[in-house]
Amino acid sequence: MMLIYNCSFMKQMDLNSVKSNRISKDEMWMQVAEVIAQRSSATKRKVGAVAVDENGYVLSTGYNGTLPGTDNTCEDPVTNKTYPHVIHAEDNMCRRLDDDSLVYAFYVTTAPCFNCAVKMSRFNPAIVYYDQEFKNNDGLMYLEDYGIEVVKLRRE
Ligand SMILES: [Zn+2]
Repeated sequence: MMLIYNCSFMKQMDLNSVKSNRISKDEMWMQVAEVIAQRSSATKRKVGAVAVDENGYVLSTGYNGTLPGTDNTCEDPVTNKTYPHVIHAEDNMCRRLDDDSLVYAFYVTTAPCFNCAVKMSRFNPAIVYYDQEFKNNDGLMYLEDYGIEVVKLRRE
Protein backbone atom coordinates (compact mmCIF):
# COMPACT_ATOMS: atom_id res chain seq x y z
CA MET A 1 0.00 0.00 0.00
CA MET A 2 2.84 2.40 0.81
CA LEU A 3 4.24 1.99 -2.68
CA ILE A 4 0.95 2.99 -4.21
CA TYR A 5 0.72 6.11 -2.05
CA ASN A 6 4.26 7.05 -3.06
CA CYS A 7 3.44 7.01 -6.74
CA SER A 8 0.34 8.80 -7.96
CA PHE A 9 0.47 7.10 -11.37
CA MET A 10 0.40 3.64 -9.76
CA LYS A 11 -2.47 4.70 -7.52
CA GLN A 12 -4.46 5.81 -10.53
CA MET A 13 -3.84 2.53 -12.32
CA ASP A 14 -4.87 0.58 -9.27
CA LEU A 15 -8.16 2.47 -8.93
CA ASN A 16 -8.93 2.01 -12.60
CA SER A 17 -8.31 -1.72 -12.46
CA VAL A 18 -10.59 -2.04 -9.46
CA LYS A 19 -13.37 -0.19 -11.24
CA SER A 20 -13.15 -1.99 -14.56
CA ASN A 21 -12.15 -5.57 -13.69
CA ARG A 22 -13.97 -6.41 -10.49
CA ILE A 23 -17.51 -7.66 -10.20
CA SER A 24 -19.56 -7.06 -7.08
CA LYS A 25 -20.04 -9.86 -4.55
CA ASP A 26 -23.70 -10.01 -5.48
CA GLU A 27 -22.84 -10.52 -9.14
CA MET A 28 -20.28 -13.13 -8.14
CA TRP A 29 -22.75 -15.18 -6.08
CA MET A 30 -25.40 -14.97 -8.77
CA GLN A 31 -22.90 -16.26 -11.30
CA VAL A 32 -22.06 -19.09 -8.90
CA ALA A 33 -25.78 -19.89 -8.73
CA GLU A 34 -25.93 -19.92 -12.53
CA VAL A 35 -23.04 -22.38 -12.72
CA ILE A 36 -24.73 -24.62 -10.16
CA ALA A 37 -27.96 -24.46 -12.20
CA GLN A 38 -26.11 -26.04 -15.12
CA ARG A 39 -25.87 -29.25 -13.07
CA SER A 40 -29.66 -29.67 -13.30
CA SER A 41 -31.08 -32.30 -15.65
CA ALA A 42 -34.20 -30.22 -16.26
CA THR A 43 -34.79 -29.21 -19.86
CA LYS A 44 -37.44 -26.54 -19.30
CA ARG A 45 -35.75 -24.50 -16.60
CA LYS A 46 -32.46 -25.06 -14.81
CA VAL A 47 -32.38 -23.28 -11.46
CA GLY A 48 -29.46 -22.74 -9.09
CA ALA A 49 -29.47 -21.47 -5.51
CA VAL A 50 -26.75 -20.38 -3.07
CA ALA A 51 -26.95 -19.53 0.63
CA VAL A 52 -24.22 -17.35 2.14
CA ASP A 53 -23.58 -16.08 5.65
CA GLU A 54 -22.76 -12.49 6.61
CA ASN A 55 -19.03 -13.15 6.10
CA GLY A 56 -19.60 -14.28 2.54
CA TYR A 57 -19.08 -17.98 3.15
CA VAL A 58 -21.19 -20.46 1.24
CA LEU A 59 -23.46 -22.39 3.58
CA SER A 60 -25.32 -24.45 1.00
CA THR A 61 -26.15 -24.76 -2.68
CA GLY A 62 -28.88 -26.49 -4.66
CA TYR A 63 -30.27 -27.11 -8.11
CA ASN A 64 -33.57 -28.58 -9.28
CA GLY A 65 -33.77 -32.30 -9.84
CA THR A 66 -34.99 -35.67 -8.64
CA LEU A 67 -33.78 -37.52 -5.57
CA PRO A 68 -30.22 -38.88 -5.73
CA GLY A 69 -30.07 -42.36 -7.21
CA THR A 70 -33.30 -41.95 -9.19
CA ASP A 71 -33.92 -41.28 -12.87
CA ASN A 72 -32.87 -37.68 -13.49
CA THR A 73 -35.69 -37.01 -15.93
CA CYS A 74 -37.52 -33.89 -14.75
CA GLU A 75 -40.25 -33.53 -17.39
CA ASP A 76 -42.93 -35.86 -18.69
CA PRO A 77 -41.84 -36.65 -22.27
CA VAL A 78 -45.44 -36.51 -23.54
CA THR A 79 -46.79 -33.39 -21.82
CA ASN A 80 -43.40 -31.70 -21.19
CA LYS A 81 -44.71 -30.79 -17.73
CA THR A 82 -42.34 -30.93 -14.78
CA TYR A 83 -42.92 -34.04 -12.65
CA PRO A 84 -44.32 -33.25 -9.19
CA HIS A 85 -41.53 -35.21 -7.52
CA VAL A 86 -38.83 -32.87 -8.87
CA ILE A 87 -37.25 -31.02 -5.95
CA HIS A 88 -36.76 -27.31 -6.50
CA ALA A 89 -33.28 -25.79 -6.26
CA GLU A 90 -34.20 -23.71 -3.21
CA ASP A 91 -35.67 -26.76 -1.49
CA ASN A 92 -32.48 -28.77 -2.12
CA MET A 93 -30.43 -25.84 -0.82
CA CYS A 94 -32.55 -25.59 2.35
CA ARG A 95 -32.33 -29.36 2.95
CA ARG A 96 -28.55 -28.99 3.29
CA LEU A 97 -28.76 -26.18 5.84
CA ASP A 98 -28.77 -26.84 9.57
CA ASP A 99 -31.67 -25.64 11.68
CA ASP A 100 -29.42 -23.00 13.26
CA SER A 101 -27.72 -21.87 10.03
CA LEU A 102 -27.18 -18.12 10.04
CA VAL A 103 -28.13 -17.25 6.49
CA TYR A 104 -27.51 -13.67 5.45
CA ALA A 105 -28.55 -13.94 1.81
CA PHE A 106 -29.97 -16.33 -0.73
CA TYR A 107 -29.08 -16.05 -4.43
CA VAL A 108 -31.49 -17.80 -6.77
CA THR A 109 -31.41 -17.73 -10.55
CA THR A 110 -35.22 -17.71 -10.71
CA ALA A 111 -37.62 -16.07 -8.28
CA PRO A 112 -38.75 -18.72 -5.77
CA CYS A 113 -42.20 -20.29 -5.83
CA PHE A 114 -44.45 -19.88 -2.81
CA ASN A 115 -43.52 -23.21 -1.19
CA CYS A 116 -39.80 -22.55 -1.53
CA ALA A 117 -40.21 -19.02 -0.19
CA VAL A 118 -41.83 -20.46 2.94
CA LYS A 119 -38.92 -22.89 3.38
CA MET A 120 -36.37 -20.10 2.83
CA SER A 121 -38.08 -17.74 5.29
CA ARG A 122 -37.49 -20.28 8.05
CA PHE A 123 -33.82 -19.25 8.01
CA ASN A 124 -34.74 -15.57 8.34
CA PRO A 125 -32.30 -14.18 5.75
CA ALA A 126 -31.85 -10.43 5.46
CA ILE A 127 -32.18 -10.50 1.70
CA VAL A 128 -33.05 -12.71 -1.27
CA TYR A 129 -31.52 -11.93 -4.67
CA TYR A 130 -33.04 -13.37 -7.81
CA ASP A 131 -32.47 -13.00 -11.54
CA GLN A 132 -35.23 -14.43 -13.74
CA GLU A 133 -38.93 -13.94 -13.07
CA PHE A 134 -41.07 -16.96 -12.10
CA LYS A 135 -44.56 -17.48 -13.57
CA ASN A 136 -46.04 -15.68 -10.57
CA ASN A 137 -44.88 -13.43 -7.72
CA ASP A 138 -46.43 -15.43 -4.89
CA GLY A 139 -43.04 -16.39 -3.43
CA LEU A 140 -41.60 -12.89 -3.65
CA MET A 141 -44.73 -11.40 -2.09
CA TYR A 142 -44.57 -13.91 0.76
CA LEU A 143 -40.91 -13.05 1.45
CA GLU A 144 -41.66 -9.33 1.49
CA ASP A 145 -44.66 -9.83 3.76
CA TYR A 146 -42.35 -11.81 6.04
CA GLY A 147 -40.02 -8.79 6.24
CA ILE A 148 -37.28 -10.15 3.98
CA GLU A 149 -35.82 -7.78 1.42
CA VAL A 150 -36.16 -9.00 -2.16
CA VAL A 151 -33.86 -7.70 -4.89
CA LYS A 152 -33.85 -8.47 -8.60
CA LEU A 153 -30.25 -8.39 -9.80
CA ARG A 154 -29.99 -6.72 -13.15
CA ARG A 155 -27.50 -8.20 -15.56
CA GLU A 156 -25.45 -5.73 -17.56
ZN1 LIG B 1 -39.91 -23.79 -5.54
